Amino acid sequence: MRAEIVAIGDELTSGQRLDTNSQWLSQQLGNLGISVGFHTTAADDLAPLVDCLRIAADRAEIILVSGGLGPTADDLTREAISLAFERPLALDAESLAQIERRFASRGTTMPERNRVQAMFPTGCQVIPNPNGTAPGIDLTLDRSGRTVRLFALPGVPIELKEMWAQTVAAAIGGTSTAPTKVIRHYELKCFGVGESRLEEMLPDMIRRGREPQVGITVHQATITLRVTTNGKDDVECQAQAQPTLDEIRTILGPLVFGETGDELQDAVGRMLAAANQTVACCESATAGLIALLLSESPTAAPQFRGGRIAPQLEAYVDKGGESSQALAEQAAQKIKAESASDYGVAIGPIDDSGNYHFAVADQQGVISNASQTVGHPEIHRPRAAKQALDLLRQRMMSAG
Ligand code: AMP
Ligand code: MG
Repeated sequence: MRAEIVAIGDELTSGQRLDTNSQWLSQQLGNLGISVGFHTTAADDLAPLVDCLRIAADRAEIILVSGGLGPTADDLTREAISLAFERPLALDAESLAQIERRFASRGTTMPERNRVQAMFPTGCQVIPNPNGTAPGIDLTLDRSGRTVRLFALPGVPIELKEMWAQTVAAAIGGTSTAPTKVIRHYELKCFGVGESRLEEMLPDMIRRGREPQVGITVHQATITLRVTTNGKDDVECQAQAQPTLDEIRTILGPLVFGETGDELQDAVGRMLAAANQTVACCESATAGLIALLLSESPTAAPQFRGGRIAPQLEAYVDKGGESSQALAEQAAQKIKAESASDYGVAIGPIDDSGNYHFAVADQQGVISNASQTVGHPEIHRPRAAKQALDLLRQRMMSAG
């Protein structure tokens, strides 16, 4: 069974507002074991909307429509459904009374325009909306012998979510064609190589059609490997995923720092907490980002002793004529001593050729590394901050 989400609104197609409803609905459908084949976003324009709905009905068994159920002239979902599937609109007295009561409870009378919200395509069921005036539409269609179920919900996220939870989820779960399986994703988070190098290390894993499927995404130099399973429950999904997760861990070794939801700073924080150790940092190129990451991480924050932003490390270590590497190493040692922490992390400025040095100091001494800016400037700082945190992680792994 495949689903399609149709998000409707000029504010979405014009880029003024992000379509978060499709993301959220896809996650909910995934929890029910239904995979989503298409996200369609359409403007408030009747004829193209009718086309979109017909196309969706020809390629999906579940259609979730978001938006366009309001009372104004640009709300066309009702009419589009009616035209697309030849279901004339008719007034639902019960819904009208409810909408009128809603206005009465606010001490006003219902504007005539809201009457349209009580109009429904014939043969549908009304989905109650406890948080707004626009009820939803639940319509079962016969498309050349295929049964298609369409649910139309208002675009206001709080209303849509509540109506999903109260009515739609159970309705989908209760259909005879409802899947008895759930979809679960398991993530491994990696840092230290580029995504194409990582893919080379896992030949055949990322292949489409593999069971379970492994996907790879990269965000600010952190790579996520996502193993997707489809089983009758969590236990079965976990059992399906485990051999693949184990295999990836064996091949990638220390490149893997965590699992679903983890960031590098969380992994570093866990290691520091386990060893009852602390860290401080001195930053040039990252301008405080390392401190921010450590401060925001629930595991790292308690182990973080503070930081300093030093645009020029010379001024901080009070020395001239040293190499960039020596300056980073000295800054790491100085911040460690100054903060009385177990580890000092330092990163120098990015020079004219795009090079920078970073260092980690501990009881045993100091290690450092160098790198060069690559990619878009937006990722330079996050990548550099993560490289410094990763050097700390490596140091702790070799110590432990
Ligand atoms: P509508 O139901 O089309 O009248 O939409 C009402 C409001 O909900 C819009 O003004 C948007 O602010 C919001 N909205 C509509 N569609 C979406 C969507 N797909 N994702 C997030 N917000 C939305
Ligand atoms: Mg709208």
